[in-house]
Amino acid sequence: MHEIPESVVKYIEELHDLLNSYARAYYVLDAPLVSDEEYDALLRELVQIEELYPELVTPDSPTQKIGGEIRKEFPSVVHSAPMLSLNNAYSEGELRDFEERVSRILAESSPGLSKPQFDYHVEAKVDGLAVSVTYERGVFARGVTRGDGTTGEDVSHNIRTIRSLPLKLAEPVDIEVRGEIFFPISDFERFNRSLEDAGEKPFANPRNAAAGTIRQQDSTIAAARPLDMFLYQVVEPAAHGLDTQTGCFEFLKRLGLRTNPKVAQCGSISSVIELLASWADKRTTLDFPVDGAVIKVNQLSLWETLGSTAKAPRAMIAYKWAAEAITTQLLDVEYGISRNGILTPVAVLKPVSLAGSTVKRATLHNLDEIERLGLMINDTVRLEKGGDVIPKVVGVLSDLRKDDASPVPVPERCPHCGSMLARDENSHNLRCINQSCKGMLAEQIAFMAARGCLDIEGLGEKISWRLVDEGFVKSIPDLFRLADRKDELIELDGFAEVSVEKLLARIEAVKTSSFTRWLVSLGITGIGQSAATELASRYPGFEDLSSATPEELSAIYGFGEIMAQSIADWFSDEANRGLLYELKTLGVKPEPSKTPGNEGGIFEGKSFVLTGAFPGLTREQLKVFLTANGGKVTSSLSGSTDYLIAGESAGSKLVKAVGLGVEVLSPEALVDMMRDNLDRVVIPTVLLDKAFFTKIKDHE
Ligand code: NAD
Repeated sequence: MHEIPESVVKYIEELHDLLNSYARAYYVLDAPLVSDEEYDALLRELVQIEELYPELVTPDSPTQKIGGEIRKEFPSVVHSAPMLSLNNAYSEGELRDFEERVSRILAESSPGLSKPQFDYHVEAKVDGLAVSVTYERGVFARGVTRGDGTTGEDVSHNIRTIRSLPLKLAEPVDIEVRGEIFFPISDFERFNRSLEDAGEKPFANPRNAAAGTIRQQDSTIAAARPLDMFLYQVVEPAAHGLDTQTGCFEFLKRLGLRTNPKVAQCGSISSVIELLASWADKRTTLDFPVDGAVIKVNQLSLWETLGSTAKAPRAMIAYKWAAEAITTQLLDVEYGISRNGILTPVAVLKPVSLAGSTVKRATLHNLDEIERLGLMINDTVRLEKGGDVIPKVVGVLSDLRKDDASPVPVPERCPHCGSMLARDENSHNLRCINQSCKGMLAEQIAFMAARGCLDIEGLGEKISWRLVDEGFVKSIPDLFRLADRKDELIELDGFAEVSVEKLLARIEAVKTSSFTRWLVSLGITGIGQSAATELASRYPGFEDLSSATPEELSAIYGFGEIMAQSIADWFSDEANRGLLYELKTLGVKPEPSKTPGNEGGIFEGKSFVLTGAFPGLTREQLKVFLTANGGKVTSSLSGSTDYLIAGESAGSKLVKAVGLGVEVLSPEALVDMMRDNLDRVVIPTVLLDKAFFTKIKDHE
């Protein structure tokens, strides 16, 4: 095995953190922090590094995960077949590579036979959210989100409000169909304005509006919004005599389901490329959000032969359009602050219309970016909207620089608290190090209250800043003391009695939110959604976690040493211990979490010890599988161990197990056990393509 440089390990961890925080903002909070292009570029970089160092690929790597967290508020449903993502292409060359790959796999799968014939079904790629809809005897039975690809959220109550989706089909068939829910563009701007008028935060784009609506608990909200839906997939096409994607579209229409009108059939990848060029300039005239096109092999029997990776089917590819661009003037640079004290320069721009919306501000990320661009105030700048979401300053038209251009101001003091700023050595970021900075606190409060965290409705960024500015909140615990100052709050301009009462009730209620949510909310470096879920499944609360050693934490699969150390450091810091103590005295008592997906699992209540090697599967991967099915894996054998799974070259543990009377299972015996319980076995998405599990599915 080759030596892996420490710098690579560190960089991968950084990429994980960055991508996870972007994905969380995108999927969980429905509020993206960066453009899709920027996210995709980082993800590609990670893919390339992982190809060089496959041993560093962890199941929780952003390259292996689909979508976001499953929200507990909705019943979860395991998909009959995984709902995967798509691989992306950005150029003609990558589309040709796709065709070459498809042809090669098909030729290899049937050597000696004549070249398999196929054509393409090309569909505009609707930028919404994927859902699966089931009809029983032609009657709407269920609608489920994609979730993490394996398990989705049952949001039938909202899906049944979509007016274009029939509750009864034209024929009494049993069928599962999949498609995309979207927010029509013509309604989006108007809808966002109504939110702003009501003092609520507008959505970043139609996709986030659709995702935010479909994951509401109260179905009257979805019913009042103009959601629409196109169906594009029949899950078991052969059962309905369908053998092409073109045929599926005809069938879906015959059943009364709405399909994407922007589709075409192409005989070769060259004609696909021609078609895409002709679509590119017309996409802005469509009334549904489109971020590219999906090119699918039309012959469904070949989909099976081509198979899929853990993340995407090989029979199709998404082609993403290049971002649109425009020029405008840089009027000023202001500095926002993050909850960690990092100051982010924001470009204040002369308002311009870009891809359907007015752009007045754009993030400049950090001082390095300003330097890299060579930016000066009053410059003419080129602005792009990557993936049609967040505007980005991509360059300066220096030939147009005027005499009144001036250097971008770099503050010496924090604009929010007046303290002297420090500069991060590596990243050159400006950082406020005053732990009592009002700006940091306001951002931390807004973060805690956000949807993926404690989800305190009515406590957005605006109100958080207001509470801090008016002196009601001087520390996190003050949030839980607000009830004592109810009368003063009501006196504030814009704070009505009813809304104050609602806000206080919600703050009271989150005191007993799940331990996972509380862990995420504290914004501890290294603890995102997946790490929090993992920790909460092992530790019932703050007290137990506080006493975990870095060694113990780094033994958790997916937790590197650096991450484990930073978590342990956070819990041993006096100020943080004080914070947890204060929160406890104020009645904060997080509810211990149950490990998601393992209740009622086939191994519930059973304990395992693993020894030896397992062909095609690491020990950690087997552990992930057993845990996902309710089992508990420990490292040392005792009389209370239920099973020892002994792989190749099992050593002394095997002898010990026999002595203790612990049942020994071979990998084959484990496979047999799973086969006997096929309907209840959960195979995590990240393990779907592992040969060990394909064996079980083949049998099926
Ligand atoms: P994707 O855009 O890569 O493509 C997969 C999805 O396309 C499918 O699940 C389906 O929902 C949809 N789709 C639309 N029309 C379709 C059609 N005709 N046929 C089949 N599928 C169709 O989606 P993803 O996996 O949800 O997310 C990955 C993308 O999300 C990335 O490419 C990235 O651009 C974006 N993202 C952005 C951020 C950010 O911070 N900006 C963060 C995470 C993800």
